[in-house]
Amino acid sequence: FRRKQPSAKELITAITKGDKIALSRAITLIESTNEAHLDKANEVIQGCLPYANQSVRIGITGVPGVGKSTFIEAFGKYLTSLGKKVAVLAVDPSSSISHGSILGDKTRMEELVKDENAFIRPSASGDSLGGVARKTRESIILCEACGYDTIIIETVGVGQSETAVHSMVDFFLLLKIAGAGDELQGIKRGIMEMADTIVINKADGDNKAKAKLAKTEFNRALHLFPAKKSGWIPKVTTCSAIDKEGIDNVWQLIADYLEITKKNHFFELKRQEQNQFWMLETINEQLKNRFYHHSEIITLLEANKKAVQNNEISPFAAAQILLEKYFDK
Ligand code: GDP
Repeated sequence: FRRKQPSAKELITAITKGDKIALSRAITLIESTNEAHLDKANEVIQGCLPYANQSVRIGITGVPGVGKSTFIEAFGKYLTSLGKKVAVLAVDPSSSISHGSILGDKTRMEELVKDENAFIRPSASGDSLGGVARKTRESIILCEACGYDTIIIETVGVGQSETAVHSMVDFFLLLKIAGAGDELQGIKRGIMEMADTIVINKADGDNKAKAKLAKTEFNRALHLFPAKKSGWIPKVTTCSAIDKEGIDNVWQLIADYLEITKKNHFFELKRQEQNQFWMLETINEQLKNRFYHHSEIITLLEANKKAVQNNEISPFAAAQILLEKYFDK
């Protein structure tokens, strides 16, 4: 006996009433690779869109071990204590390889998972970052329609995924820990440049003095970057996620950021630009997907790969044949 699947309309109604189960189901639909689910997923997203947008979207990145899940747990609990509704999503393209995900481990965020005003969803899996990121981007809309006013997007700071997350959030937070005077080594300049705030975690016990020093160094480094279009000057702060110290400070910084960027309209402008970016991203992704999954192209591609390998045809001429075949079909 299988329960009848709810229709798109039923899902939309339930989501906008704050139903977590409907929200989970709709996200599963978005994540589905079944072509038949695509239309239904799009209908749900479209239906939710008028209810979305009343939120702040915060990106959090940092290398494994820096304390992301501990921080998000403490931060999330703090936000729900202020009466906010918090959704935690993730972008982790490696999850499909390891069959785990950065948010898949049930022991993570134990308190937040139990919180009635929190919704936690592990990263979608998929073989391309673009696909995984798009699914998270679409899930944000559903979470907002479901009444979540604070959306946290977590990603591991080891690859390209930060750029994707940066392009779907209002505020980007880089989590770090203090080292022994080598704070600025090994951080990609680009990631630091994206950060609206650097939070130095584990500022507790013997680490406190080091964290303070790191704060000074990062502050100095941030001043070398050109001024941001947002009119916001990136800040550095310290916290201890375990002792729940400095968490309120992080939220205060975000609140300050929102005040400034809403006043100067950067907030709105950035979201508009992000929407255009995601439209183009989706076109790129779907063009590629459809092309490479087309049965005639698959056969022709194999033949041309061999021909190119044997120098029978130039790579460009072979590409041209394939593209023409696809677009003139
Ligand atoms: P993630 O891999 O970035 O998600 O990091 P986790 O949240 O799993 O934390 C990695 C380790 O650092 C765990 O053993 C945590 O208990 C520890 N940790 C996290 N936050 C703090 C903190 O504020 N202070 C201290 N001393 N340890 C922390």
